[in-house]
Amino acid sequence: MKLIADNLIQIQNNIEIAAQKVNRDASSVKIIAVTKQVTVERAEEAIANNLVHLGENRPEGLELKEQAIGNKAIWHFIGSLQTRKVRKVINQIDYLHSLDRLSLAEEIEKRAQKIVKCFVQVNVSEEDAKHGLSTDDTLQFIKDLAQFSKIQVVGLMTMAPNTEDEAIIRSTFKGLKKIQQQVVGLNLSYAPCNELSMGMSNDYQIAVEEGATFVRIGTALVGNEGRVS
Ligand SMILES: *Cc1c(COP(=O)(O)O)cnc(C)c1O
Repeated sequence: MKLIADNLIQIQNNIEIAAQKVNRDASSVKIIAVTKQVTVERAEEAIANNLVHLGENRPEGLELKEQAIGNKAIWHFIGSLQTRKVRKVINQIDYLHSLDRLSLAEEIEKRAQKIVKCFVQVNVSEEDAKHGLSTDDTLQFIKDLAQFSKIQVVGLMTMAPNTEDEAIIRSTFKGLKKIQQQVVGLNLSYAPCNELSMGMSNDYQIAVEEGATFVRIGTALVGNEGRVS
C-alpha cells in the first residue's frame, strides 16, 4: 500500500490546481480522510501526516478508531445515521454530514449534550438509492429545524452520481452550491450554512472548482482494504 504521505502530496497538488482555476485559496478546502475501509493503524498514519479530520460511516468503526485516536482527530460521521444509533454516536463526533429527516433531528435534540454541527444531506441528483432530501424540500426542512436548540446547520452535503460524465458530476455540485446560497439568504441564526461537503476520490477536483470546503477522500488517500470493523 502506498504511503499516505505520497498520496497526500498528490491530492494537495490537485486541490491547489483546481482552486487556482477558479481563483480560490486552496487553504479554504479541508480534507477529511475517510478511514471507514482501513485499519486503526492506517488511521494513525493519517494523523501522523497532520490529517486532523477523520471520517467514519458506521458507529462501530467510529468507536474503534476513536478509542485509539481520541481527541487528536476531529471526527466526522459521514454515513446515514439510524435513529436508534444516535445515542451511541452523537456525543462522540464533531460533525454530522447526514442530517436528512426531522425524526433524526428530534432524536439528536433528545440525546445531544451540546450543539451538534450538522450538514444537511441533499440528494441533488435525485437518485433513488441515495439518502438525502430532494432539492425542492431542502429549504423548508432547514426552516423546520428552528424548533431544535441542539442543531446547527453548518453546511450542506451531497454525493455525486458514480459516473464518468463530468457534466453530470459538475451540475450536481453546482446544484448544491445554489441551494446553499439560498439558505445563507434566509439569515437563520442556527443555519449559517457556510460549508459545502462534496467531492470524493473520483471527483474532488470538480468539487473544489465548484466551491467545496470539505472534501471526503478515502480510497485515493488512505486506500481501501475492505470493511475492517
Ligand atoms: C466512503 C465515502 C466517501 C469516500 O469515498 P472514496 O471514493 O473512497 O473517496 C466519501 N463520502 C461518503 C459519504 C462515503 O460514504
